[in-house]
Amino acid sequence: TTAVKVAQLYLDRIAAFNDTLNAFVHIDPAHVLAQAEASDKYRAKHDARPLEGLPIAVKDIFCTQDGPTQCCSNILKDFHAPYDAEVITKLKEAGAVLVGKTNMDEFAMGSSTETSAFGVCRNPWDTNCIPGGSSGGSAAAVAAALTPAALGTDTGGSIRQPAALTGITGLKPTYGRVSRRGIIAFASSLDQAGPMTRTVKDSAMITAAISGHDPRDATSVADAPAVDWLAACESRDMKGLKIGKPKEYFVDGMDAEVRASVEAALKKCEELGAEIIDISLPNTEHAVAAYYVIAPSEASANLSRYDGVRFGHRCENPEDLLDMYTRSRDEGFGSEVKRRILTGAFALSSGYYDAYYLKAQQVRTLIQQDFIQAFEQVDIIATPTSPIPAFRLGEKTDDPLTMYLSDIFTIAVNLAGLPGLSQPCGFANNLPVGLQWIGPAWREDTVLSAAAAYE
Ligand code: GLN
Repeated sequence: TTAVKVAQLYLDRIAAFNDTLNAFVHIDPAHVLAQAEASDKYRAKHDARPLEGLPIAVKDIFCTQDGPTQCCSNILKDFHAPYDAEVITKLKEAGAVLVGKTNMDEFAMGSSTETSAFGVCRNPWDTNCIPGGSSGGSAAAVAAALTPAALGTDTGGSIRQPAALTGITGLKPTYGRVSRRGIIAFASSLDQAGPMTRTVKDSAMITAAISGHDPRDATSVADAPAVDWLAACESRDMKGLKIGKPKEYFVDGMDAEVRASVEAALKKCEELGAEIIDISLPNTEHAVAAYYVIAPSEASANLSRYDGVRFGHRCENPEDLLDMYTRSRDEGFGSEVKRRILTGAFALSSGYYDAYYLKAQQVRTLIQQDFIQAFEQVDIIATPTSPIPAFRLGEKTDDPLTMYLSDIFTIAVNLAGLPGLSQPCGFANNLPVGLQWIGPAWREDTVLSAAAAYE
């Protein structure tokens, strides 16, 4: 087959289903076919590159020279980035065909893709339900086979939680593995990009293509331990693997069918030769609170650049400079983004810094130490990805606090900078359930090999 035929097949599916799902917020079919044609031409003359002709959709948070980059916010409406994010350049160099921009929560703040300025995204398993978030468009697009693969970003769970809620595989690499250059910043010490795919091997191949040191991103790590991505997936052996089962991630209040699915998955791992070891990560209960100080604090600093001068929206007829700043920001940002900016600015303000931001950073260190201690006993940790399956649209929009609890099982992984992968492991209320694997820093190979063996 040819890349053009493959691209056309997915474009036809997008044309058939995107009106219902709203997974894509921008798509240019002619440009997709032109890239596919270029890939076919390349392959006629050279050996295929690692992702030759593979269609990949990317979240609207990645800067792309082609098409708009709007982070699903009105403040970036019609913004065109002057350069490609480093990971976009790497995808192009690997021969991938970029399909379009996917829907997301505004500035990646949310767990349901309901805060998007371009309308909600729907879960293909039940279109009355949310697809998770913030990378909900990427998840819905892969789950409905509108694209074979997509990129998301994960600050507190935004790759893994939507992957879980739509029944696909999503990997958040170790912090520093993938360049953040050209990815619109939410919380700089937590954000990391990664693949959302149908199989573990697809995730491995895409991570192989996008990872590596970027001298133009100070948060990308220069001497990161290398991983043999494909070998990790092909080893597929659970014999002797010590899997930690943290008691803090199997709690009252979580959905009973979610719990049963994950416990059944661990049984299967045991049958495949793994050893399940009960462990404790005692500071887990403080993770959400610490995250909702640290992430908004960093966001309040990162989002100060949207001032009506340099990027995006500017209000009409400003009276003076202050009026331009305040009205442009008031008109451009949605309410969840404003809530984060206010929370963050408050936590960082003088007199409160020690009580909130500093405390949260101390908790972060304790959470990191919990994992370091756990990995002295076990090779890998397994948990549910989300305490509940996909919920109905609108069900949690009036209550930010319950929305924040959607990420109770994913946030600690970001605070500790560790690799985490979610893969499907069953159903609750007839909706997909995710199994989360957490590895030691830089051990994506352990994570991928366990996930491939389970799959
Ligand atoms: N749901 C979390 C939040 O709203 C995580 C989002 C993310 O990972 N980008 O901040």
